[in-house]
Formats: sequence, structure tokens, C-alpha cells
Amino acid sequence: HAKVGGRAQTRFFDATMTRDLVRRREIEGELRQAIQRDELSIFFQPIVDLETGRIRCFEALVRWFHPEKGELRPDEFIPVAEESGVIVTLGNWITAQAARTAAQWPEDVTVAVNLSPLQIKAPGAALGILNALREAGLPPSRLELEVTESLFLDDSDATSVFIEELSAKGVRFALDDFGTGYSSLGYINKYPFRKIKVDRSFVSGKDVGRKSEAIIRAVAEMGSTLEMDIVAEGLETIEQVQAVRDAGCTLGQGYYFSRAVPDYLAAMLLSQERDPAHSGDRKTA
Ligand code: C2E
Ligand code: MG
Ligand code: MG
Ligand code: MG
Repeated sequence: HAKVGGRAQTRFFDATMTRDLVRRREIEGELRQAIQRDELSIFFQPIVDLETGRIRCFEALVRWFHPEKGELRPDEFIPVAEESGVIVTLGNWITAQAARTAAQWPEDVTVAVNLSPLQIKAPGAALGILNALREAGLPPSRLELEVTESLFLDDSDATSVFIEELSAKGVRFALDDFGTGYSSLGYINKYPFRKIKVDRSFVSGKDVGRKSEAIIRAVAEMGSTLEMDIVAEGLETIEQVQAVRDAGCTLGQGYYFSRAVPDYLAAMLLSQERDPAHSGDRKTA
């Protein structure tokens, strides 16, 4: 009986796999045209100073509005873009768009762009970013590049050259999703990160408790000594905001403050908080 059940399960599994594979193939083909067809756009999610409640940065998050499939989330198409190499073209487009938008913001607001390892290892990657900044008229110090620990798996020369070259020009680096990967302190020691983003699994979900709080506290302590900002991701409730602020995080990001919004709404959020008539509306914890 176990054998029959097993076979049925296998067949079901195969069907799902085939469907996934077909969808990935479709996405891969369509992604190449999506940019020209104007189906992609960048949304911006505020990163807020937990002391003052003011927006210090926006993270650029790509969205794909597919004519038939509807809104696709980056978790669905970024991995496909990485596998097929389209990520290099896509990434260049995202950086250029984000830099152009950020050039319209007040000078003390930065923009954070996520980079895939493949983009960083592509030839001429650092130069491409500097060109995008120049064309947009955005000073390098107003761009933050978010990388995850997966970048350091092979610890190639290309990675250190990229980071050192751009850091020297003033571009800032942030370590994203900290706590989900290898979380080696060696990378923090080796590279000039200005920011560490503690993954949202430490803030909300089943693993949150006394231990996760102690870990956030320890990371925040290190951040304060090394003069790095510590960002708590995925803040959805006032209780979470208070907890991470008490633990020493300096910045926060999450639905409690705002979801990622189109560029015109990002600009509106900024002008609202800078307009004295609206200062009372500000969401402070
Ligand atoms: P990430 O860099 O860690 O970005 C944060 C993700 O958490 C975003 O999902 C954001 O919408 C979501 N988020 C923010 N606040 C909350 C919250 O309070 N609760 C919950 N449940 N989620 C929250 P998104 O936009 O779907 O992006 C997912 C991932 O895709 C990103 O994770 C990033 O790794 C990748 N990604 C997004 N845009 C780009 C891009 O332009 N280039 C590359 N290479 N990767 C990107
Ligand atoms: Mg990110
Ligand atoms: Mg993150
Ligand atoms: Mg993430």
C-alpha cells in the first residue's frame, strides 16, 4: 500500500514541478521584454529613524505588473533573473531608475538598492553604478547598496574590489537579512558596512522571544560601538517598534510605517513630514 501511495505522491509532485518549470520558463522569456514594455516599476519603502520618526532612506523594491499574470513579487522573478543572467540588465535598469528618483529628494534622504551577487561579479559592475549615479546627478554618498551574506560564499576578489572601489567613492553598503545566512562576523570585520539590517524573522513570527531579543540587543550594541546603523526589518506593530527601539536599533522598516509605494507617494511622504503644518501627523512610536 505504501508503494501505491508513494507513486501517487510522486506523480503529483512531478505535475507540480512541471508546472513550476513551465512558469519559470515563461517568466524568463517575458522578463527580457518586460523592461521595454514598461511593465516594471520601482516602489519605495521608507526606513525610519526610530528616535525622531523621520524618513532617513527609502529602499527600492522592484515590482512587475504582468499583463496576464498580474503583480509578480520579486521573490518569484528575481531568482529566475539570476539563473538566466537577465539580472545584470535588470539590475542596471533598477539602479538607474532608483538614482533618478532619489535625485529629486531632499539631500539628507538616501536610497537603498538591492544587489544580486551575479550583478556584482559582472565585469564593469562598479563603473556601471558610478555611471548611473552621474547620469542621475545623485552624489555617491546618497546611494546605499544592500547585499546579503550569500555574496561572500566564495569570497572572490571581484567582490572585494567592487566594495572597495565604490566605498572609496562614497557609496555606502548595508548587510541585508542579517541572521538568516552564515552571519559570519568576519564579513563585518572585513568590509566597511554602514548598516546592518536584522532580518524580520527576529522581529515577528514563531521564533521571536527572549533569545531573538537578546540577539538583536547584541547586534545593536556592536552597531553602536562600530558606528553602524542597525535596522529592524518587518515592523508591523507598535509593540515591535518599541521592542526593537528598546533593544537599541536605530532604524526601522515595515508595514507599521508604510508599505513600498510608487515614487510620487514617496515624494509626498517626504514633503508631508517636512511641511510644518503636517508635523503632527507624523507616526512616531
Ligand atoms: P529584502 O531586500 O529583504 O526586502 C524587504 C522585503 O520585505 C520586501 O519584499 C518588503 O516589501 C517586505 N516587507 C517590508 N516590510 C514588511 C513587513 O512589515 N512585513 C512583511 N511581511 N514584509 C515586509 P519584496 O518587495 O517582495 O522583496 C523581496 C525580496 O526580493 C527583497 O528582500 C530582495 O531580496 C529582493 N528584491 C526586491 N527588489 C529587488 C531588486 O531591485 N533587486 C534585487 N536584486 N533584489 C530585489
Ligand atoms: Mg533589501
Ligand atoms: Mg531585507
Ligand atoms: Mg529579505
